[in-house]
Amino acid sequence: MNYYSLHKKAPNVTFKDAVVNGLAPDRGLYFPGNITPLSNHFIKNIDEYSNHEIAFKVIEQFVGNDISKERLQEIVSETLSFDFPVVAIDENIGTLELFHGPTMAFKDVGARFMARCLGEFTSTTLSNRTSTLSADRQDTLSNRTSDATTKKQKNLTVLVATSGDTGGAVADGFLGVQGVDVVILYPSGKVSDIQEKQLTTLGKNITALEVDGVFDDCQEMVKTAFLDAEIDRTLTSANSINIARWLPQMFYFFFAYKLLHKQHKELVFSVPSGNFGNICAGLMAQKLGLPIKHFVAATNVNDTVPNFMVNGNYNPKPSKATISNAMDVGNPSNFIRIQEIFNNDLVSLKSAFSSYSFTDDETRDALSKIYQKSTYIADPHGAVGYLGLKKHGLKENEYGVFLETAHPVKFLEIVEDTLGVSVAIPTQIKSVLNKEKKSIKITSYQDLKAFLNR
Ligand SMILES: *Cc1c(COP(=O)(O)O)cnc(C)c1O
Repeated sequence: MNYYSLHKKAPNVTFKDAVVNGLAPDRGLYFPGNITPLSNHFIKNIDEYSNHEIAFKVIEQFVGNDISKERLQEIVSETLSFDFPVVAIDENIGTLELFHGPTMAFKDVGARFMARCLGEFTSTTLSNRTSTLSADRQDTLSNRTSDATTKKQKNLTVLVATSGDTGGAVADGFLGVQGVDVVILYPSGKVSDIQEKQLTTLGKNITALEVDGVFDDCQEMVKTAFLDAEIDRTLTSANSINIARWLPQMFYFFFAYKLLHKQHKELVFSVPSGNFGNICAGLMAQKLGLPIKHFVAATNVNDTVPNFMVNGNYNPKPSKATISNAMDVGNPSNFIRIQEIFNNDLVSLKSAFSSYSFTDDETRDALSKIYQKSTYIADPHGAVGYLGLKKHGLKENEYGVFLETAHPVKFLEIVEDTLGVSVAIPTQIKSVLNKEKKSIKITSYQDLKAFLNR
């Protein structure tokens, strides 16, 4: 499988290089060169396959020959070591729970898959490296500047800024992966206690840098580091622009279909969206032949895409803070991939995809409505997804599924205050709460640079 850059000014690459590079050299996102639909026979007989078998069939063509069939099967099984249930909310709406992984957000799936792929690629690079080590050493002695050869002698470094959920999922997914160091920047005092524990207590190859600033400062430092030729390491990113984090998200649309197709209703998915990676993966699943009637991208007041769907103008704006903070994105990075799927044609995009925006008050109201209806405790992101289905409206022969992208415990205060109930703390979360926080405080880009070049 070849991947091209959506800026069309960089060479095509295979899966491996697209994963290692993250972004193409022309700063464009990578996109698969061709997408072959799965057979009708497979879709019709999906009940006969386990989730691991389904996931392997879905991802196989996108990985190509860069990972052996046997190893890819193992990676898929290790990634998907938890459940993806659909819970009924009312007669024609259910929620697909994506939070049964170790950090209780859907990002676990992409992070675990990407970590294993990268581990696979660095272990093959490491064994190649041993044979050329002496040549590399001489090179280092004769040339002390940071060229590609000397960079190779350090581990590949995943550098990531987080406003909360991404950091935890990446830290957990990459823990103990050979040949990869992970450096996470988070804004001091701006993430929840649970999120901070998930970032700062793992140790080993994971380092948390606690930045005196806001999320945008962390993001800015990461961007600067990627462009800084004096950084003496090979850096890669682990956000949803990376194809190895984005593409595995196709899996759960297939899992939901497997659970629901016997109802003989057409499926409408509503996806709470921030960077639009998750919903873009859903649209890819549809392109692979999965029968999905319609997609709703539900957002908070960060409404760049809902506005585009109305007037055809894409006007990114600075992000606004909301109670569904994992979706506080003013310029969603993956929307360009969605447009590519539809050949940049707004009319055909509109036939498969709608997008609506909701306020925090509407979100709190939806949390209460869902709870009154079914005693189900949703999180603010799931509640936005529910609102998306209600706004879109469901016909007699349709069944709506909203994605529950995080466990409510991750947004404890909002959920408990809104519903007047207490949420039980799951074991995954309890186990990190007792661990000791370890972070390195930094205040400037120079501190980050010194840390990376130490
Ligand atoms: C990241 C995240 C989202 C947004 O997903 P995108 O793929 O960026 O659209 C929604 N909900 C939660 C809980 C998240 O962590």
